[in-house]
Amino acid sequence: MSENKIPYKIYLDESEIPTKWYNVRADMKTKPAPLLNPGTLEPLKAEELYPIFCEELVAQELNNDDAFIEIPDEIQNFYRMYRPSPLIRAYFLEKALDTPAKIYYKFEGNNTSGSHKLNSAIAQAYYAKKQGLKGVTTETGAGQWGTALSMACSYFGLDCKVYMVKVSYEQKPFRREVMRTYGASVTPSPSMETEVGRKILEAHPGTTGSLGCAISEAVEVATKNDGYRYVLGSVLNQVLLHQSIIGLETKTAMDKYGVKPDIIIGCAGGGSNLGGLISPFMGEKLRGEADYRIIAVEPASCPSFTRGKFAYDFCDTGMVCPLAKMYTLGSGFIPSANHAGGLRYHGMSSTLSQLYHDGLMEATSVEQTSVFRAAQQFARVEGILPAPESSHAIRVAIDEALKCKETGEEKTILFGLTGTGYFDMVAYENFNNGTMTDYIPTDEDLKPGFDAIPKFPGNEF
Ligand SMILES: *Cc1c(COP(=O)(O)O)cnc(C)c1O
Repeated sequence: MSENKIPYKIYLDESEIPTKWYNVRADMKTKPAPLLNPGTLEPLKAEELYPIFCEELVAQELNNDDAFIEIPDEIQNFYRMYRPSPLIRAYFLEKALDTPAKIYYKFEGNNTSGSHKLNSAIAQAYYAKKQGLKGVTTETGAGQWGTALSMACSYFGLDCKVYMVKVSYEQKPFRREVMRTYGASVTPSPSMETEVGRKILEAHPGTTGSLGCAISEAVEVATKNDGYRYVLGSVLNQVLLHQSIIGLETKTAMDKYGVKPDIIIGCAGGGSNLGGLISPFMGEKLRGEADYRIIAVEPASCPSFTRGKFAYDFCDTGMVCPLAKMYTLGSGFIPSANHAGGLRYHGMSSTLSQLYHDGLMEATSVEQTSVFRAAQQFARVEGILPAPESSHAIRVAIDEALKCKETGEEKTILFGLTGTGYFDMVAYENFNNGTMTDYIPTDEDLKPGFDAIPKFPGNEF
């Protein structure tokens, strides 16, 4: 099909929704390092993870070998409620930028959670239900994950306890109400409800919280209550697996029109949307079948890839979780409170960390005000009000398209538009009022985080 026939929106048929997730680890020569038991420093066995996670999710977490994993029918059915998501050709943006580049974005904001997070939430709730559990606990930062999980839990009749990072709880009261509408209980974190929350509050009175704190609280509650397990919305291998649906749909849609991206861009918080979007493309790259330039975009205020250390570290502030090898700013790192929205996590998916370490992808960081300038420009021409997180990817997509304008290259750029920004109006308000600031941590700011990374033989960084 010729170029000019490419529609504004490429929708797939329902029958083209993938029936299997793709596990990129199967094609990695160097596998992501295993999770370690923080007590023994030995790789964690499945049984050791059962008190925290559902059994089937543990199997997915540890599965480095099977390239494809069947999506259970009930999850496929739920996906049909809001998938396939559109792949959009950004003709309006291209015109506004006057660029020869061809820009595509995969839009995951077309569901009430407002983000891609529902793709994994429904899977995790399904396996919890299948195991006969009463409910699940979790953390949420900006609130999209908590919303997605509360939707998924209400679908399966599970109880849902959400620990919400305090700064977001205060900035986004309406997010909390969406979660409560779906039946979840929402507690600002750190809270006095848990041992670890009380400890954190004692050490950092007045803290606005972090994902790392909220995770510790949620894990404590899951392990202390019968019939509960903890679920996580990003970072873990299983989450990247579920999110591969994004990349698989994208690839099917592009293949239909014979389009190959030159550059693939995604924002990176814990790495799940980016990991999901790039998985099938990275698979081709790993197998030597194709080459792509892949760029992770993170906020300059929480720069795990670009300034972090590649080391074993705790996934949470309370240091109760397993050790994961990843790019990390240290589990005690708390990003500046003026940083809006998600992407606040101190670490990064260990799968993406390994791929980055092996030179298979790049990373860059961008400042908040330039991100919102890109968001505004995008909203005005493409019609979608983007989430601040997604706008990190927009920023770099625009920058790459502008480079093409200079060189005259007709590159094909694909980026992930992970969600909508309707609940981020406080941040947009700051931007519109000109009161938004950028904060880039100094080396001094980062030092305490690095100092707290556990030291043991083999964990030099
Ligand atoms: C959670 C979230 C992200 C970042 O999380 P990842 O796991 O890195 O994908 C990005 N965009 C939106 C809209 C989100 O809700």
